[in-house]
Amino acid sequence: MDGILALCHFCESHGPCVILCTQKCKEEPLQSPHSLTVHWCEACQSINLEQALVSRDTNCYVTTRTPQQQDLAFLLKQAAVRSLSCEEETSKDGGTLYFGDNERGHVISHTFTLRDSLARGFHRKYSILMLMRDKVHLLNSWPMLVKNMKELARELQNQADAINGAEQVQRPQRAVRQAQGSPRNTARSLSQLTGQPAIFGHIHLWFTWMLGCETVIEKPNLGLPLPPSRSPTSLRNLAHQWDDVVFRTACFCILTGYRIVADEPEIIEALQVLLPHHWLPLPDAEICRLKKNNGWIVEWSGSLPTRFPTLQTVTEKALKNEHLPDSALEPYLNSVMLKWLHIAQSISWSNGNRNQQFLQVLGVQNHDMPLVNYWILRCSTQNIDSR
Ligand SMILES: [Zn+2]
Repeated sequence: MDGILALCHFCESHGPCVILCTQKCKEEPLQSPHSLTVHWCEACQSINLEQALVSRDTNCYVTTRTPQQQDLAFLLKQAAVRSLSCEEETSKDGGTLYFGDNERGHVISHTFTLRDSLARGFHRKYSILMLMRDKVHLLNSWPMLVKNMKELARELQNQADAINGAEQVQRPQRAVRQAQGSPRNTARSLSQLTGQPAIFGHIHLWFTWMLGCETVIEKPNLGLPLPPSRSPTSLRNLAHQWDDVVFRTACFCILTGYRIVADEPEIIEALQVLLPHHWLPLPDAEICRLKKNNGWIVEWSGSLPTRFPTLQTVTEKALKNEHLPDSALEPYLNSVMLKWLHIAQSISWSNGNRNQQFLQVLGVQNHDMPLVNYWILRCSTQNIDSR
């Protein structure tokens, strides 16, 4: 689920309630938003129940009085209660906090007050909150969310201060109320408090922008396609029969993107098992020729590194391990290969970020880079020609 952003209010008559919420949808809502009973008074009022404010880019951002899905309306109501009452934050600038669990959703909430000379204590309490299913994703978005929540709150506060100031000049309510006691009907909408008739449209645009920010968009976890099932028995035979230098050169070349030409096509087939998919070699890399001349020899103008990529070392060890039966070899090699495929994919997803710390966290060392660079390129160009 993508997050849902909401503006909540502690109404003097109805308690904590959601007065507006925005969510990302695939398409515009076709029917009136929902059939829930919602308390209504001037203070809880925003847009009409059957209204929806809609903005589009490639997605649709829909703002309604309460969420269109009933279960979500329930969760949001609970979050509103918690942000405005249970999790009391008394500092003057309001309070930002996280709460939640997997059942009720995870929430970041920013609570703030608006000045209102007619309200109890001369302030009305509001909160802006983001409800999400995914805790990690929500907390990762904390800096961006909190910055914008505070900015929006500050804007509303400035507008309310201006209105309140003007009112005080005209008729100081504090003095009137102290003389008369509480007036009977004091509820005022956010539009009235801020003096902005289009305030809910403005909030809709703000929420839409926040939901559309890259940091808040949840990337679908499509997973990586599993390598096709291929027996490594032929490769194991080569590891036993070939001279070490020939075998290691061939493995290094195929793992790092060099084109291999062999006297027998079965040899290429056996070596392909080392790659997750039938990837094309790098276009301008030198050719590695494997020739059959009594035994197999290799001709390649490149030079072997002093240390091979970890995947190559681990694979060779497994191929030569007599205690590892053929039946266990394939799943084992696949698991090692998937680990490196995920590493390459992670770097590719982070726009090719080869920052030392990031590589260290992923367990990538210098001798892995020839392999990783080639795999990243193939992951990012999607140049996968599955067999
Ligand atoms: Zn109310």
